[in-house]
Amino acid sequence: MIPYGRQDISQADIDAVVNVLISDFLTQGPTVPAFEKAVTSFCGAEHGIAVSNATAGLHIACMALDVGPGDTVWTSPNTFVASSNSALYCGAKVDFVDIDPQTYNISIARLTEKLAYAARDGRLPKVLIPVHHCGQSCDMKAIRRLADEYGFRIIEDAAHAIGAFYDGAPVGTCTYSDITVFSFHPVKIITTGEGGLAVTNDSALAEKMRRFRSHGITSDRSVMEARPENEIWNYQQMALGFNYRMTDIHAALGLSQMSRLTEFVDARRRIAVRYDAALADLPITLPWQMPESNSSYHLYPVLVDQDRCGVSQKQFYSALWGGGVAVNLHYIPVYLQPYYEKLGFKRGYCPVAERYFQQAISLPIFPGLADSQQDCVVQQIRDALQAA
Ligand SMILES: *Cc1c(COP(=O)(O)O)cnc(C)c1O
Repeated sequence: MIPYGRQDISQADIDAVVNVLISDFLTQGPTVPAFEKAVTSFCGAEHGIAVSNATAGLHIACMALDVGPGDTVWTSPNTFVASSNSALYCGAKVDFVDIDPQTYNISIARLTEKLAYAARDGRLPKVLIPVHHCGQSCDMKAIRRLADEYGFRIIEDAAHAIGAFYDGAPVGTCTYSDITVFSFHPVKIITTGEGGLAVTNDSALAEKMRRFRSHGITSDRSVMEARPENEIWNYQQMALGFNYRMTDIHAALGLSQMSRLTEFVDARRRIAVRYDAALADLPITLPWQMPESNSSYHLYPVLVDQDRCGVSQKQFYSALWGGGVAVNLHYIPVYLQPYYEKLGFKRGYCPVAERYFQQAISLPIFPGLADSQQDCVVQQIRDALQAA
C-alpha cells in the first residue's frame, strides 16, 4: 500500500537519538532548548516552547490567553478535532466559521459577517484559532485587521505548516498572531514521534506556557512567594499545569529533522507540481494557492464531484484503496462528530465545509514518495474515473 503520508528517517536522525540515549539527560536536558532554538531561528519568532504534542500546545496556548468558562473560541470546522478540543479543555465554548471554497481555510467573508452579528449580540470570541489547512497559510493580514477591530486574540494552528511561507515570511513568525503551534506527528512535515511546539513573540505568554507545560511550577526566585527563611523552597507551584514536556529523545529527532526541513518541503512541492501537471486534464478539482502563500503541502486534496466526473467520492476512495493507494480524508467537519453533535451542533451549519467533506480525497504526498509510485497513483485515479 502507498500511504497518504509517511515520515522520512535518516541514519543521522537515528544517531542523534542514540546520542541522547547514552547521555546524562533523557528529559529536561539541553536538547529540548536546542530544538526550540532551531525552530524559533527558522521562523524568526522570539520564544519556543516544545511540548509532548501539538494538542498540548494548543491547550496551553488557550490557557496562556486566559480562555476559561464563559469564553468562546472560534475555529474552522475543516480541521482535526484537537483545534477545538483545546478550548473545551479550558471550559470554554467553541463555535465554527465556514471555510473558503478555494483555499479550504477559514472564510474571511463568513468571519467578517459572523463577527458583526456577534458584536451586536455581545457574543464575540475571546480567541480565534485559524488552521493552515494542508500547509497553506490563512489570510492572516485580514484576520489581524478583524482582531484589531473586534479585540480577539489569535492562535495559529500550524500543525500542517512548518516550512510554509506567507507573504515572504515563514509561518510561525507570529507577525499577525499571539501564538503559533506546530505538530511533529509522523505524518506531518517533520517529526519527533509525538511532539509539538508553540512559538510567540510575547515573553509573558512564553513564561505562562513554560509553566503550564510543567505542572504550573516555577523555580524562578523572583516570582516565588515569600516563605520562612529556614525552609527549603526550591520550587513553587503557582498555577494548575500539566506534564506536557517533550523529552530530549524526541527533541533530538526533531533537531536532526529540522536540518532537512527545507529539503522535505521542496520534495513535497515537487510532488504537488507533478500532480498539478499529471491531473490537469481530469474532471476533478486540484488545490488552489493564494498568490501570497507558499504551502508546505502537508496534504494534496482533490475534489471528486459526482455530477462532474460520474464517480462518487466513496467509489473513488474504494477504487484507490483497491488499487493499493491508501488515500485519506481531511476532514470530517468537527461539529458533525457525535461528541460535538451532543453539544448542539447540527448538520447544515457550515455548508461549504460539508460539501468539501463530501468531495475531498487526500492523495499520497511525502518526501519518500518515488516518481514511479506517484505515477501509479495517477494511473489509479485515471482508471477510477474511466470506470464511470
Ligand atoms: C495533527 C493536528 C493536530 C494535533 O497534533 P498532535 O501533535 O497530534 O497533537 C492539531 N491540529 C491539526 C490541524 C492537525 O492536523
